[in-house]
Amino acid sequence: MIVAIDGPSGAGKSSVAKACAKQLGFSCLDTGAMYRSIAWLALEHDVALDDDEALGQLARACTIAFGHAPGDPVPRSVSIDGHDVTDAIRTARIDRAVSPVSAAPSVRAAMLDQQRRIGLSGDYVVEGRDIGTTVFPDAELKVFLTASAEERAHRRVRQNADRGVGSIDYPEVLADIERRDEYDSTRAASPLCPAKDAKLIDSTDRYIEDIIAEICTLAHDAQEGER
Ligand code: C5P
Repeated sequence: MIVAIDGPSGAGKSSVAKACAKQLGFSCLDTGAMYRSIAWLALEHDVALDDDEALGQLARACTIAFGHAPGDPVPRSVSIDGHDVTDAIRTARIDRAVSPVSAAPSVRAAMLDQQRRIGLSGDYVVEGRDIGTTVFPDAELKVFLTASAEERAHRRVRQNADRGVGSIDYPEVLADIERRDEYDSTRAASPLCPAKDAKLIDSTDRYIEDIIAEICTLAHDAQEGER
């Protein structure tokens, strides 16, 4: 079974996806981390961020791997071509580079193949921007998680402070979120938008525990419907 969780930056997708995966006993796939890893590799190789062909070559040839603690279906690290980039992909430098990289059609095509292969290997909660619309249009449950840009920026600042990586300057983080929202929703390839049959959940004034419980209930209902 696939639970697709899409939505803009900072809506809480990662925390919600991880917690739901744990409760449901599913694995969890963070597709944003895959695009961030390609952006990291492109910067390492000095590939121009508007060079679709060169970016596509990188994306097709690279190996992205998620590291798990024994028995934990939720990954705790990510590497690309053997480099551990778990922290390196959360910096402001990658926040800026990831939008053009993820807008490259050749990169999206390469990631689509990898994401489908991973997702079809078991029960997965998959989070991203185009999971319900493009990667898994037949997902048994589709959720589109939103929150106001201001709330998302506050959350991202707290998350960066906890991790000790990325900007903790609120105006800078808000500007980056608004820039990425605009970029992600207006690009030609797989723009960010809810699938027609997605359940819209606004997390602005809600506790994360409520949202996790709501999604797990929806997933159980979808599983029941399957039987
Ligand atoms: O989710 P996260 O903020 O880590 O994603 C980083 C970037 O990757 C997004 O701003 C978006 O440009 C891109 N992305 C995407 N499609 C996905 C997941 C992420 O275009 N499925």
